[in-house]
Amino acid sequence: MGKEMVRAAVQVAPRKIEIREFPKPTIGPDDGLMRVEANGICGSDVETYKGHLPPMGAAERAPFIPGHEPIGIIEEVGEQAAARWGVAPGDRVALEVIVPCRACHDCLTGRYQACRNRRYGHGVTGVHVAPSLWGGFAEYLYISPTSVVHRIDKTLPAEVAVMFNPLGAGVRWAVHLGEVGLGDTVVVLGAGQRGLASVIAARAAGAGTIIVTGLASDAHKLALAREFGADHTLVVDGPDGVNTVEAVREITDGAMADVVLELTPMAAAPVTDALLSARHGGRVVLAGLKGGRQIPLNTDLIINRALRVVGAFGVDARGYAEAIALIESGRIPLEKLHTHTFGLDDTALAIETLAGEVPGEQPVHVSIHPNGS
Ligand SMILES: [Zn+2]
Ligand SMILES: [Zn+2]
Repeated sequence: MGKEMVRAAVQVAPRKIEIREFPKPTIGPDDGLMRVEANGICGSDVETYKGHLPPMGAAERAPFIPGHEPIGIIEEVGEQAAARWGVAPGDRVALEVIVPCRACHDCLTGRYQACRNRRYGHGVTGVHVAPSLWGGFAEYLYISPTSVVHRIDKTLPAEVAVMFNPLGAGVRWAVHLGEVGLGDTVVVLGAGQRGLASVIAARAAGAGTIIVTGLASDAHKLALAREFGADHTLVVDGPDGVNTVEAVREITDGAMADVVLELTPMAAAPVTDALLSARHGGRVVLAGLKGGRQIPLNTDLIINRALRVVGAFGVDARGYAEAIALIESGRIPLEKLHTHTFGLDDTALAIETLAGEVPGEQPVHVSIHPNGS
């Protein structure tokens, strides 16, 4: 009898994704297999698709299965793994991208994202590494003995449950790193899915005034920002574009913001806007990657305003766990963020849709459902 085969979308070159089949892995006592229900897509998938970000480690451009925001059902799990993760077949789980060693100094002190022994990652490891099925754009995904597994309510719609990932970013960036507290004025620069998630998290944490910036082409996202609790939305480009810093000054009556999140991709000017929008002693969280470019930075401003400037690297287990609790509370109409569902065969189209390359589409949250929705 032949081995059961698993279909997966493999990125073989920039802008080239093809469906390939791999043998369904044999599971031992210490690992598991997930039947993938949904996998969210984010800006880093777009950059990787275009060939801008090489997948972590590994031979550059080695074919790999993308998809680092997966949720799914435990199909098979070894006895030891089941006990360690607290799961049984049929449970729904979300996986983190990082597969740490769980034994080095960084792992033991809670900085597992800095683990120097990590050799694999979900959605980044090449298919040449057994058993190939590391990414979420596949019917099944291999769960490694040290994968980071979060349980999540099975009764939620898959496209809502899979928002554990962007919402985790909102929780970590706004609340844990930005330390948004009761009554704080929060400015979010950038209205993508993580900007909207930051609005949701800041609102849940008791923020006072929330101000969100976006481009004229982000009108639908800014409308969502208002629905999720933003008090003011600013369009900062085009003929009617406003000056972010002046608008924040006016709205806050000169007090400026307690917390500013800079989430815009590639643009340099918003970093200065972020510093200038914060009050004396305020917090500025930087999470918008600039493609490795040097950008001008007025360090005197940071000193004279006694700013705390923090870099946001991804999301950690606490951020994901709190995001999952927020989703499971059912108090937030997250389905309003979900705009597009695609099957495995349309992986490239899904990424191009999120990238804004498909005329007429207004994407916010896009996910791939490899086994149908
Ligand atoms: Zn992502
Ligand atoms: Zn480690």
